[in-house]
Amino acid sequence: MLDRFVAAAETADALNAQLRVDLAAAFRLAAAFDWHESVGNHLSVALSPDGRKFLMNPRWKHFAGINAYDLLSLDSDDLETMQRPNAPDPSAWAIHSRIHAALPHARCILHLHPPYSTALSTLADPTIHPIDGNTARFYGRTATDLGYDGIADDAAEGDRLVSVLADKSVLIMGNHGVLVVAPTIAAAFEDFYFLEKASKTLVLAYSTGKPLNVMSAELAARTSHGWTAYSGMATTHFAQLKQMLDESGSTYASLNREGRCQSFRSLRFRSLRFRSLRFRSLTGAVQHFTSLPRVE
Ligand SMILES: [Zn+2]
Repeated sequence: MLDRFVAAAETADALNAQLRVDLAAAFRLAAAFDWHESVGNHLSVALSPDGRKFLMNPRWKHFAGINAYDLLSLDSDDLETMQRPNAPDPSAWAIHSRIHAALPHARCILHLHPPYSTALSTLADPTIHPIDGNTARFYGRTATDLGYDGIADDAAEGDRLVSVLADKSVLIMGNHGVLVVAPTIAAAFEDFYFLEKASKTLVLAYSTGKPLNVMSAELAARTSHGWTAYSGMATTHFAQLKQMLDESGSTYASLNREGRCQSFRSLRFRSLRFRSLRFRSLTGAVQHFTSLPRVE
């Protein structure tokens, strides 16, 4: 019985560690793609099935320097969060805590101000018109908020964004930026990648001053649906991007402050060795990723 309990705790620890590593990779990659803005913007991923416990970036740390251990473990129901010395950015808390609490299926939430999709958000009509495959990808999946009312830094504004987003996976935030929700970090990252590509195409097309050749509703819906056959690209793309980070010597996967580039893979290897030595205690399971000796 205890063994089964310990095994479940170890599995949960391993899954949470993987989410930490993958979200840290998403921060580094967002910076590499120039989607970030100064030390603002925010990405999060749910830990608990109800979404109320989640990981998010610490206040005002540059995306290019974020490691897995930096991410804050937060609880939407914890009303003391913003009174603590390590409180997250107020806008990040207002948006992400409310969306995670209200929409448990939104496992990963990415909110950024990338150049082209933010430019699109400033138009009187920020609709992503279907004019090619990438723009049509978002047909029928996008909500638009034209109710910008200053910086989003209170729960009421977070709740308002939840109601506008509703069952859609992309939110064009008028006069502000964009937000994507998805079931996994890889899927959210892939949608964000194509959202910025689609916005670039649309902005460039607008810049010609010529009329857009907008697809019919039937063609746009069919093209959007056609993307489901390519959903596997998200996992493959994200894995290859992470591999590039690994090969560059990035420390993003470090799970503790002392470790010099301790990768998740080497920690898992250690974990297996400990298990083979019948390393069995609840304390050990909980501290699994923080108490291991340094891996050079
Ligand atoms: Zn913003």
